[in-house]
Amino acid sequence: MSQSPRSASALSRHPTRLVQIGRVLVGSAAPIVVQSMTNTDTADHIATAIQVAQLARAGSELVRITVNNDDAAKAVPKIREQLLKMNVDVPLIGDFHYNGHKLLTDNPACAETLDKYRINPGNVGQGAKHDTQFGQIVEMACRHSKPVRIGVNWGSLDQSVLARMMDANASRAEPWDVGAVMREALVVSALESAQMAEEVGLPGDRIILSAKVSSVQDLIAVYREMAARSDYPLHLGLTEAGMGSKGIVSSTAALAVLLQEGIGDTIRVSLTPEPGGARTQEVVVAQEILQSMSLRAFTPMVTACPGCGRTTSTVFQELAQNVQSYVREKMPEWRTRYDGVENLTLAVMGCVVNGPGESKHANIGISLPGTGETPAAPVFIDGQKAMTLRGENIAQEFQAILDNYVATKFPAKGLSA
Ligand code: SF4
Repeated sequence: MSQSPRSASALSRHPTRLVQIGRVLVGSAAPIVVQSMTNTDTADHIATAIQVAQLARAGSELVRITVNNDDAAKAVPKIREQLLKMNVDVPLIGDFHYNGHKLLTDNPACAETLDKYRINPGNVGQGAKHDTQFGQIVEMACRHSKPVRIGVNWGSLDQSVLARMMDANASRAEPWDVGAVMREALVVSALESAQMAEEVGLPGDRIILSAKVSSVQDLIAVYREMAARSDYPLHLGLTEAGMGSKGIVSSTAALAVLLQEGIGDTIRVSLTPEPGGARTQEVVVAQEILQSMSLRAFTPMVTACPGCGRTTSTVFQELAQNVQSYVREKMPEWRTRYDGVENLTLAVMGCVVNGPGESKHANIGISLPGTGETPAAPVFIDGQKAMTLRGENIAQEFQAILDNYVATKFPAKGLSA
């Protein structure tokens, strides 16, 4: 997938360094990157490769896999091999906790295959072991020329940093509340770990930071602070966002505020899938956040009205759903054939009140007849009424108009100036 440029609305973005992860660039002026994570047993290299492929095909530009034991570490090169057989080329990130230093040292093929290592400074060992084991992972990153993400998490915050912050707070004339101390400890843990990584020898342009929490307001406060105090690219995500609409709304609320302030270089939406639900939903939501904010374009957007008492049949909802599904189904092919097709805009409207007006704002819009209106659906192309559809086959006829528009208005790949 091409990384389209940011819109003018995001030009005041927080300046960061540029980090290369495999073939993907993160930070500086690079487009904001969508990433996700598998939930398969990494040791099952076939199941994991299949899910990585699904996530990548859905639009995940980086995919993280847990590397939690020796079997998982040994599976990593096999996962890469399997992905190559499936014609999937997506950077793989290894997620390490507790034993990353040992797994990377014992499994050089894993260390070489991964495109980035995620280190959680709260889970690399306690006491004297902390710095040694953290340093060992960073040394492996240096040896294999890999970037790292220093990924702090509210649920596994480095307790020694928190204790130090608490002590410092106790000696303040006016102590902060506990929440403020926790937020500061998250920021300090990330920044001090990055400094330590650089002291071990990792170049600063191979470091990405994150500090994830599960509360929207805390996440915003923590990332504003990290952005103000460093120029490492930032990975955004509300951790443990939850399931269904709650997870989507919470993630969007938090990420949208930060992205609008120019903070964030790569994002993940951490949704809990419904039982049997698609893991790829988190990728779609991440793309939709970026696209609805005009920060990236991935898939043609369908504008549809909510319907009201003027749409008493289900024809309008069915057509809106049909068009959205058709576009998603066709995009993998269109994307390879037509330049800029992701910028196509569509409108499916329920009645004459806002239908023609909204349809004229889209590249292709259709205004269905509301209850009591003449059973005719005018279609607008680039702001002009082009034809009127009637009868039982409106969906198929609208698809044909869409196909024709894409084929004639977007230049074939490689032919655009
Ligand atoms: S466009 Fe018509 S059908 Fe849709 S919400 Fe507005 S009034 Fe209702």
